[in-house]
Amino acid sequence: MNARQEVYSYSRLNTFDHCRYRYKFQYIDKIPQGPTTIEAFMGSRVHDALEEWYGRRGLGESVGLHELIEAYRESWRSKWCDDVRIVKRNMTVEHYRRTGERGLITYFQTTGRDDPTETLAMELRVHIPLSEDGGPALRGFIDRLARAEDGALEIHDYKTTSRLPSDKDVDADPQLALYQIGVQREFPKAPAIRLIRHFVSFGHTHRTQVDAGRLEQLRESTKERIRVIQACTEYPANVTVLCRWCSYQDRCEFYQNDA
Ligand code: SF4
Repeated sequence: MNARQEVYSYSRLNTFDHCRYRYKFQYIDKIPQGPTTIEAFMGSRVHDALEEWYGRRGLGESVGLHELIEAYRESWRSKWCDDVRIVKRNMTVEHYRRTGERGLITYFQTTGRDDPTETLAMELRVHIPLSEDGGPALRGFIDRLARAEDGALEIHDYKTTSRLPSDKDVDADPQLALYQIGVQREFPKAPAIRLIRHFVSFGHTHRTQVDAGRLEQLRESTKERIRVIQACTEYPANVTVLCRWCSYQDRCEFYQNDA
């Protein structure tokens, strides 16, 4: 990597597309974010539990549902802090805690218990070059990289969204395909790479494979997105219902409580 290469995260690109005003707070003025939301907190605890569980499994330990749920509960207990924000009215902390726990039980019963894959890494950092000339690059973290029985590599992503997106929407999201570019660079001899998203709260798994032509298109479109960001001089606010989850709402003069 070039010492002065600018490296973007996928969430940085999405933040710019959604609200440039927020982008300015976060990436230009570098203002620390406000308290996390309960949805994000719950998602992190599910990831913690899976990371520990697959890690122990990889070491040859005999771990089952009990160990998975204990890992989740321990992460929730040890990381809880009272400023976690509950955005939706009439929802309780316990509702979210149980939602995460139920999702893990379903994941264990449908996938985890008989998972034949070998876990190669959890929370794997990948570097994704977009061009050969040392221009901007992407970086990301893969929830779990695994090797399947047929030798293919699998990029697993664990989602804890409260809404199940359509297959069309999932296919249109390029995040994992971009991560594939980084994995191919690290594992050039992999016979195939599969992209697997687990919608943990729904027990739903979405599998896809992306060909070289599509990867090249994504590389070009991502470079264009970054060119737009670099040329940007104005950062207007985009007020939508998603402002309720924005971690800069206390600083934003456009935020309305009933947006
Ligand atoms: S509250 Fe809404 S308009 Fe304001 S910065 Fe956040 S997302 Fe943008």
